Amino acid sequence: MTRSVAEFQEKMLLLSKAFLTELPVETKTIETAWLQFQDQKNPEALRNAQRKAHGLESTSKIFGYRELGQAAANLEHALKQVLQENPTWTGDQDQSIHQQIAAHITELNRLTAKPRQDQTLNYTKKLKDVGHVDHETAARVFVVDDDQESAQELAMQLSYYGYEVEVFGKLTKFRSAIQKNPQAIVLMNIEFSDDDHAGLRIMKEIQQKMDEPVQVIFLSSNDDLALRLEAVRAGGIAYLTKPINSTDLIDQLDSFAAPQTQEPFRVLIIDDSDAVLAYHAAILELAGMTVKTVNTADAVMKTLLEFSPDVILIDTYMPECSGTELTKVIRQIDGLLNLPIIYLSLENDFNTQQEALQLAGDDFIVKPAEPKRLISAVTLHIRRARLLRGLMVRDGLTGLFNHTAIKEQLNREIVRSNRLKTPLSFAMIDVDFFKKVNDKHGHAAGDRVLKSLARLLKQRLRGTDIVGRYGGEEFAVILTDTDAPGASRVIDEIRNVFSRLIHMSDNKEFTVTFSCGIADIKHFPDTKSISNAADKALYKAKKKGRNQVMISAD
Ligand code: GH3
Ligand code: MG
Ligand code: MG
Repeated sequence: MTRSVAEFQEKMLLLSKAFLTELPVETKTIETAWLQFQDQKNPEALRNAQRKAHGLESTSKIFGYRELGQAAANLEHALKQVLQENPTWTGDQDQSIHQQIAAHITELNRLTAKPRQDQTLNYTKKLKDVGHVDHETAARVFVVDDDQESAQELAMQLSYYGYEVEVFGKLTKFRSAIQKNPQAIVLMNIEFSDDDHAGLRIMKEIQQKMDEPVQVIFLSSNDDLALRLEAVRAGGIAYLTKPINSTDLIDQLDSFAAPQTQEPFRVLIIDDSDAVLAYHAAILELAGMTVKTVNTADAVMKTLLEFSPDVILIDTYMPECSGTELTKVIRQIDGLLNLPIIYLSLENDFNTQQEALQLAGDDFIVKPAEPKRLISAVTLHIRRARLLRGLMVRDGLTGLFNHTAIKEQLNREIVRSNRLKTPLSFAMIDVDFFKKVNDKHGHAAGDRVLKSLARLLKQRLRGTDIVGRYGGEEFAVILTDTDAPGASRVIDEIRNVFSRLIHMSDNKEFTVTFSCGIADIKHFPDTKSISNAADKALYKAKKKGRNQVMISAD
């Protein structure tokens, strides 16, 4: 994986050397195909020459050999015209075209003997703005309050949701910590025992010293406009009044920290030139995306299903078929109708691009792509596709997979696990006495409980586990690579944490528990039997007194 511009630069230099070594061979194959055509009048040889010329044009341009690329392009263009207008052309009919092609080949040979690079391979400037998005770091939160008890309580609630929290009782310690970690999100109490506005004062002072504003949420026992104004002037991005509703706070925190919890974008690139693949893959990897490359159409199917990309970049010409043909095939695969497909092409011709788009593509990028253009096009398509897909498969309240989606995922994961012979568990979770929660604290408070459970499951489970809202106050989890005892340990820990979360309604605090039933594919190898078994185990957990996890034994 390419992580730095220096690494990218080195990779491209190595590939460029390999290109120069291979260049005479490449040109020779084109010439040989042409000679073969003259000899046997075989149009297949012409097609072969066209394809090779196309490949040479791509690679020459990637490595900055513009003149050579242009010569290859001219040859390709002439061959293409002949093949399109008269596929059975033998060369005898039209001597002038014959001579033209021969001249292009001579020119190609001349440039191959003395290749001239007109653009040095320096990517440092081009790539300096490509920021790497680190998807893995946990967001850091500083809680500043001289009331140690309430600060520790808040810190504990936040840590349940996966935040890394540090508590500061003294302003001096906080002052030096924030200078070392300016990225941290600050939860600043306004009132200190010796100064009613201590929190506001210190934040104003710190904001003035920093290059970038510190993200601060103010907490206060007072809710008046003057204080809120002062908070805004001290750079406050939110203002919460005590007692703090932790679900509101988490919602606020998530909205700032959200990009860090998003899954990396997955991109599949299909092109028959390894240099083209390496160049575009490295740029996207630099931007923090996960990339897979494929250099033959044959390998596409297998990779598509295993990698499930968010977007495909596809060459318009492949040896076995055209990019538009391949696009149509992909569109016919179940569930891939809306997968964004971007053509990577040398084609500058507007009409050809329009034609290709009408034939099922979503966008067009001329290769070698400008790094920024490539990243922004890919990002745009993935964001939009994820949003649309989200609307179809996500539950509105919790953002988890809905019932249909989680069932589909279960089917798919069971097939995969049975094939790979890896364990898999299915867990059904149901909130205890939820009707009472609604009755006592109101439906809105009930909704907040469901949201906090959803949030906790997402935070606490691995990225490879799949979480869904099965119905009302029922949730389902697919734990890949995990047998029932392992799943039971994980869910039981979440059960324990959940039972200690403090929920609020009308300033009253309350706690809630859940019960869970688990089954694994070792004992229940298909979708129907595993979900029935998990359901039965859940029923047992309820009967045995709730707030516990049970494994289905039979
Ligand atoms: P048990 O411990 O046996 O599971 O008891 P329970 O009260 O949780 O079970 P029951 O199935 O009788 O009640 C579930 C309640 O969940 C009834 C329904 O009003 C409530 N509910 C379902 N969906 C939602 C929702 O989206 N929001 C809220 N607030 N309540 C919901
Ligand atoms: Mg229920
Ligand atoms: Mg229930």
